Amino acid sequence: SCLSAKDFDFFYYVQQWPASYCDTRRSCCYPKTGKPDDDFSIHGLWPNNNDGTWPSNCDRKNTFDESEIDDLVSRMEKDWPSFSCPSSDGIKFWTHEWEKHGTCAESILDMRSYFETALDLKKKANLLQALKNAGIHPKNGEFHSLESIKEAIKEGVGHTPYIECNTDSSRNQQLYQVYLCVDTSASKFIDCPVFPHGKCGSKIQFPSLSGDQQEEEY
Ligand code: 5GP
Ligand code: 5GP
Ligand code: 5GP
Repeated sequence: SCLSAKDFDFFYYVQQWPASYCDTRRSCCYPKTGKPDDDFSIHGLWPNNNDGTWPSNCDRKNTFDESEIDDLVSRMEKDWPSFSCPSSDGIKFWTHEWEKHGTCAESILDMRSYFETALDLKKKANLLQALKNAGIHPKNGEFHSLESIKEAIKEGVGHTPYIECNTDSSRNQQLYQVYLCVDTSASKFIDCPVFPHGKCGSKIQFPSLSGDQQEEEY
C-alpha cells in the first residue's frame, strides 16, 4: 500500500457495555469462554471523516487472517468478545470489524497492529475505573444523569465522549456504547472533530450482568 496516504481524518474508538447489549428485547448470547465480568468490551476502531462520513470495506483482498494474531487471541477473548447469537469465539465479529473498518486504515495499521492498538487503547481509556472514581457503579435499577457519566469519563480520559444509549426490555434508557476519538497515528485520544447523532434520556441506567431487574424489584 501507499506509504503515507491518509484517507480519513480520525478514528472512533467504540466500546460497548455488555449488560446493555444483553438486557434488551433482543437479548444476547454469552461468548463461548463464558459469562464475563461487568466491564466494557471493544466494539471497534473505526476510521471516520471530519464531515461525519466514513469509509467502509476498503480492501476486499485484505481478508482476516487469524494466524497473524495468534498471540493476541487470549487478550481478544477477554477484551473483544462477541455477544451475538449463537455463542461464538469472536472470530466472526473480529473478521467483520477488520474487513469493514480495519481495511480502511491499512495504510497506517496492518492487521496485527489494528487489533493490538485497539486492545492497548482499552487499557489507556480505563472507562470502568473512570466511572467508579466518580461513584458510578454497575447496578440494576439505578439512574444517573447523562452529564455525570460524560463528566466522569472526561475526567478520566481527558476528552468528552459521545454516549450511545439503547433501551432495556422495560424501555428504560441505558448506557450502551462509549465513543472516544483517536488521532490518525492511533496513539492518542483527541477531542472529537464531530460527534455521531442520537439521543439519550437525561437519566440513564448503567446495568449489571449479575442479577436481573425482576429479582431486584422484589
Ligand atoms: P448503527 O446503525 O447500529 O448505529 O451502526 C451500524 C454500523 O455502522 C456500526 O456497527 C458501524 O460499523 C457503522 N457506524 C455507525 N455509525 C458510525 C460512525 O459514526 N462512524 C463509523 N466509522 N461507522 C459507523
Ligand atoms: P458494526 O457493523 O456495527 O461495526 O458491527 C455490528 C456487527 O457485528 C453486527 O453484524 C453484529 O451482529 C455483529 N456483532 C457480533 N458480536 C457483536 C457484539 O458483541 N456487539 C455488537 N454491537 N455487534 C456484534
Ligand atoms: P447538547 O449538544 O446541547 O449538549 O445536547 C443536545 C441533546 O443531545 C440533548 O438532548 C442531550 O441530552 C443530548 N446529548 C448530549 N450529549 C450526548 C451524548 O453524549 N450522547 C447522546 N446520545 N446524547 C447526548
